[in-house]
Amino acid sequence: IYILAIESSCDDTSAAVLHNNRKLSNVVATQKIHEEYGGVVPELASRAHQQNIVPVVDRALAKANIDKKQLSAIAFTRGPGLMGSLLVGTSFAKSLAQGLGIPLIEVNHMEAHILAHFIKDEEQSMPGFPFLAMTISGGHTQIVKVNDYFDMEILGETLDDAVGEAFDKSAKLLGLPYPGGPLIDAHAKKGNPKAFKFPKPKVEGLNFSFSGLKTSILYFIQKETAANPDFIAENIDDICASMQYTIINILMDKLKLASKQTGIKQVAIGGGVSANSGIRKALTEANKKYGWKTYIPKFEYCTDNAAMIGIVGYLKFMEGSFTDQGVSPKARFALGS
Ligand code: ATP
Ligand code: FE
Repeated sequence: IYILAIESSCDDTSAAVLHNNRKLSNVVATQKIHEEYGGVVPELASRAHQQNIVPVVDRALAKANIDKKQLSAIAFTRGPGLMGSLLVGTSFAKSLAQGLGIPLIEVNHMEAHILAHFIKDEEQSMPGFPFLAMTISGGHTQIVKVNDYFDMEILGETLDDAVGEAFDKSAKLLGLPYPGGPLIDAHAKKGNPKAFKFPKPKVEGLNFSFSGLKTSILYFIQKETAANPDFIAENIDDICASMQYTIINILMDKLKLASKQTGIKQVAIGGGVSANSGIRKALTEANKKYGWKTYIPKFEYCTDNAAMIGIVGYLKFMEGSFTDQGVSPKARFALGS
């Protein structure tokens, strides 16, 4: 089975080719245009997808050394995401499947962040069912109980900002460009995580909240820069390390609670923030500390990519679960719907 997968939910245009559960190619064009605006501008994102999609698909096919005629199906991201961005990938996938006379397969982007763990890889093992998955990305923060590929239960999620947003908005307060998450990570590596203390939100159960943290960081920065205008420049590494330390603690506390409540010790992470070195380290240490078996995606499969859409496409293909040509994108698209 050869699947061509297309991802265009936010600001990355991506295409991948899978042979069964193996990745043959995974091409990602990241849109640089949003950097100067300090965040994703939807109108510009859809325009850039429009420009990128044909060359990105061509490159994915060429890298995989596959001709269009060999494809078994086209998988695409139906949602959740930005409507204008999703429309570009959806329309393209529909026309291509129609033209080639092959099935079309819709994919939920958040399911894909989780099921990326099932892309076959020599160095990494796959989780068994049931396992816990914490999806930490630019738009979501969820703890999900995964009973089977397409049987998932959300145990908890954020009540306000997503963790990726918390990283990006905190970075913005420090004057760092968008997306700030990776930059905070880089500074944090050089700083002292206990230099400054930020309060952890008090949220019952398995839900999260990050907006209070953002506010307390804002007040902290305002207060310190009033006393010393060079405060940020002089302490950037320590500030980033302390913020990241707080965020990782919040995430790990909830994961520990979820493991305790469910008795499940297989724990996976997914989504852009799983590229963060702090969370990767915490999860690796959890193997020994709590007797967990943890699953951390390769960097390539953390942030948005089409290979994760392709693996879901393959799994759905095997189930004979195909999508009608009348399909339209869904900006809001609940897990398991
Ligand atoms: P969603 O998946 O919820 O629809 P999205 O697709 O926009 O949102 P992803 O591409 O999965 O989000 O993740 C992007 C987020 O990951 C951004 O907020 C970015 O700052 C964050 N991120 C990426 N790398 C790192 C890192 N090393 N440390 C912290 N955050 C990171
Ligand atoms: Fe994503």
